[in-house]
Amino acid sequence: MTGTTAETASAHGTPIPTTVAPQILLINHFKALKLPTFAREYEKVGIECARESVDYARYLLRLCELERIDRERRNTERRIRLAKFPVTKSLDTFDFAAIPGLNKSLVLELLRCEWIDRRENIIALGPSGVGKTHTALALGLAACQKGMSVAFTTATALVHELMEARDEKRLRALQKQLANVKLLIIDELGYVPFTAVGAEILFEVFSRRYEHGATLVTSNLPFDEWTTVLGSERLTGALLDRLTHHVHILEMNGESYRLATSKKRQKHTGKPNSTEKEDAKPI
Ligand code: ADP
Ligand code: MG
Repeated sequence: MTGTTAETASAHGTPIPTTVAPQILLINHFKALKLPTFAREYEKVGIECARESVDYARYLLRLCELERIDRERRNTERRIRLAKFPVTKSLDTFDFAAIPGLNKSLVLELLRCEWIDRRENIIALGPSGVGKTHTALALGLAACQKGMSVAFTTATALVHELMEARDEKRLRALQKQLANVKLLIIDELGYVPFTAVGAEILFEVFSRRYEHGATLVTSNLPFDEWTTVLGSERLTGALLDRLTHHVHILEMNGESYRLATSKKRQKHTGKPNSTEKEDAKPI
């Protein structure tokens, strides 16, 4: 292993004399080949394999497996970063008993993300505090873990971003980007009404995604009130037509979880609840 007379090829094909310690050359090659786990683990795993008399093929196999596991984890982390979730939440912390009206088996089925591959949509409807955003975040996280690209935004932020892109003449690029993400989550449609231009531009997003990518929308408004935020009845009709063609509706009618936990706490402590502890981790 320490022979020093032969020459080895560098990443550019130029021979490097192997008077350089092989460990240094190896680390160089691992870096060039983008194998950080090999670089980190090869010695340790080598010692383990020598101790256990494991052959070369199995030694390499162990390293390859470690590299692939690490790469998968790094890719998932990157997808989560790119999704721009305000916080990461999963269904592990979701109490289905708190919202008996929600179809639990449908949510668990949706967690498998096959609906995203089928380019279907989800609309989560219900009043404030019932877990619409929590469910959307959990479904988004599951999609990232399954290797899918996700983008999370609120309807208001999205319209702002689109208007800004329009002013800066980069609307087409942004529309293309929004059309190509596997799952687009648009949270909180209904709180803030849009101008006619804002609504048109938002409609274009839905229109481009129709049968092309999966979209998840959450709203506090029943469908017959969507006109109040989108302005025109014609536009609302056309948007709903596309969105609801292949759709799973999550009816989330119940009491606000925040309010319910706050009331429960007050009952136990006799004090109003000032610092509400959330289970979410900022990312
Ligand atoms: P919405 O989007 O419907 O207004 P959120 O998803 O933001 O509601 O929920 C409000 C808070 O209550 C969040 O911290 C969320 O994690 C929590 N929450 C809501 N419903 C549940 C539930 N069934 N189980 C656990 N936490 C919940
Ligand atoms: Mg919400």
